Amino acid sequence: MNCYTIEQTVDLTNCDREPIHIPGAIQPHGVLLVLEASTMKIIQVSNNTKELIDRQPQDLLNKPLSDLLDSKQINSIRKCLTGDFENINPLRISIKSQGKPLQFDGIIHKSDRLMLLELERKTSKSKTDFFDFYKKVKVAIGKIQMASTLEEMSQVVVEEIRKITGFDRVMIYQFDSEEAGKVIAEDKLDRVEPYLNLHFPSTDIPKSSRQLYTLNWLRLIPNADYQPAILIPLNNPLTEQPLDLSLSVLRSVSPIHIEYMHNMGVTASMSISLIQNHKLWGLIACHHSSPKYVPYDLRTACEFIGQVMSLELADKTTNQNLDYKMRLKSLQTSFVESLSQSSYLLDGLVEIEPSLPSLVSAKGAVVCMGERCVAIGQTPPKESLAPLLDWLKPHLQHNVFYTECLSAIYPEAEQFKAIASGLLALEISKIHRNYILWFRPEVLQTVNWGGKPNKPVEIEADGTLRLSPRKSFQLWQEKVSGHSLPWKSCEIEAILELRSLIVGIVLRQADELALMNLELKRSNEELDSFAYIASHDLKEPLRGIHNYANFLMEDYGEILNEDGTSKLKTLVRLTQRMEDLINSLLHFSRLGRAEPIKQEVNLNDLLQQAIATLTIARPQNWVEFRIPRPLPTIECDRAQINELFTNLISNSIKYNDKDKKWVEIGFIKPEERETLISHPVTFYVRDNGIGISPEYFEQIFQIFRRLHGRDEFGGGTGAGLTIARKIVEQHGGKIWVESQGDRGSTFYFTLAAGAIA
Ligand code: ADP
Repeated sequence: MNCYTIEQTVDLTNCDREPIHIPGAIQPHGVLLVLEASTMKIIQVSNNTKELIDRQPQDLLNKPLSDLLDSKQINSIRKCLTGDFENINPLRISIKSQGKPLQFDGIIHKSDRLMLLELERKTSKSKTDFFDFYKKVKVAIGKIQMASTLEEMSQVVVEEIRKITGFDRVMIYQFDSEEAGKVIAEDKLDRVEPYLNLHFPSTDIPKSSRQLYTLNWLRLIPNADYQPAILIPLNNPLTEQPLDLSLSVLRSVSPIHIEYMHNMGVTASMSISLIQNHKLWGLIACHHSSPKYVPYDLRTACEFIGQVMSLELADKTTNQNLDYKMRLKSLQTSFVESLSQSSYLLDGLVEIEPSLPSLVSAKGAVVCMGERCVAIGQTPPKESLAPLLDWLKPHLQHNVFYTECLSAIYPEAEQFKAIASGLLALEISKIHRNYILWFRPEVLQTVNWGGKPNKPVEIEADGTLRLSPRKSFQLWQEKVSGHSLPWKSCEIEAILELRSLIVGIVLRQADELALMNLELKRSNEELDSFAYIASHDLKEPLRGIHNYANFLMEDYGEILNEDGTSKLKTLVRLTQRMEDLINSLLHFSRLGRAEPIKQEVNLNDLLQQAIATLTIARPQNWVEFRIPRPLPTIECDRAQINELFTNLISNSIKYNDKDKKWVEIGFIKPEERETLISHPVTFYVRDNGIGISPEYFEQIFQIFRRLHGRDEFGGGTGAGLTIARKIVEQHGGKIWVESQGDRGSTFYFTLAAGAIA
């Protein structure tokens, strides 16, 4: 049993791995001589030498090549050993048979220690020189370059190749991402049925063949009904292995492929690879219903056209959809322009025109910033977004993921495939969990296949499974569901560009914010030092006025009438009040001028002391203090936090008109809060006092802002809450108030995140 017969039992499991590069045989329209490169000794030959070069294989084996060729020819082959084979092939080889010279095209390639010489008979018609070759390809290449689109170029190529070769049908397959081929151009005899726009399944070309197609740009099968010429000996004597025929032009093809050709009604075929970025982009396929031999130089011309087309692919595909790309670009420019002017990124992304979905011709989009997701247009239900995002994260590649059939890879998407069969996802930031998702609806399509795509499996007599190629190439229509229109590469490029533009805007805004903060800090510091200097300098003259008013009362009280005395008393009271105000201002400005001195403070002890001091100061006010659980120990400035609690608690007592007053002091742990946003411990001081109406929630924190007359509720300077806020901010926290009308108020505050010990 030779390799060839081994191949005939190819089964389902090894079809893709079928060793088609070592068939142990060649097609019989040429002969193969395998030489040991160093000695030029023939060590393996195909078994058809008698028919083609009039020598029995046994007469050639182990003989020097000089037995067959003259010294001139041997020399030019020797030169090949050091030179570039591509440029030398084909060699003109002449072999004497019964006194007459037979002309051959000699095609040489080297493989390790071996040299493979393939000889193909030269027909009288196939005598060409460089100028013939040039003439043949010149017209084709000119037209290829003139073509402005991929479609135009493909049509030119099929027509030119058919003109040069005379095949019944020449067509171009383009492979999609699943490696299925679609016929995008065709030139044919009128009588053969058209294949244009038909799809051919990826299984029509096994993986092993695809690999060889990138090594070897052209393959010819002049007659599918051939009897393979087996190699003698079967294994190469130097390597003791089957001979690698990857680069051989005569290599015998898989019997499955021959069957495939028969089923398609094809006797001769030639295919030329179209390669882009080292990957098989497509094929130029030529079919003929009867045997057809294409001489080597014509094949070279076709291969050259294939190479030129391959080079032009990038250019022509860029030109594709030029109008659409321009439209995308202009949409993007206006989008980014509006976005850079909106103050909040999330709102900007969602609200501005042109809308986010229109940027990539989607019907809906979702912007997720941390826990917040905002949807525009047609999108999957809100509750399905979080699981979709979780699934998506590991699938992102270079910040992007896209599919036109989400439900095929994420079955949960089946329920919303009508609006979201297509997903295009962009990750803006990993750390902040910021994503933009675009959705496209399902589009029911009809795909025309050149025959039913499933490769049938046949069961052999011995029970083994065997793949047999497709028998029918009849038009077979498939209804495709769960698919959206595909995402174009220009759309993916556009969103990647959008990402860098958004990141640019975010960075610029962050810079601006940092600058504003710096400015604010500076003007705050200036204000603090102004308040400090002003209040400090005012204190002395004020004290003077106060003292002199008192002196006046003491020394001249008797000579003043009642009106004079009362005016003096008012003056003293006013100076006293002014001093109180100046003292508060001074205290406030001092707070801003020094960093808090942080230490571990047991807030429970601190609270008990503050309450004790307050109750001693106001013994007449009966108040119930409620402390639901002991306060924690935290890092803070003891004096400042003492003042904070004292201010808030004394306000709670002061602004309370109830008979049974109570003040509750407590805290809420982060895990006890309902919101998902992480938060530090929140302290609160709650009372059942007079409450605060919401329009004053902000105002009460402003300096000297009071809601009540000086003498109502025990009075105050109106600086207490301003100082409280300063203290909280100095600790990196926030303070705010909530109130339920006359049922009381609650002042909440946080200190730095994670300050709890
Ligand atoms: P004051 O020195 O007047 O108490 P604050 O800055 O402490 O100044 O408070 C400002 C104003 O906020 C007060 O005049 C009062 O009207 C209101 N206020 C403060 N705390 C409470 C509270 N617990 N209940 C009701 N109103 C309050």
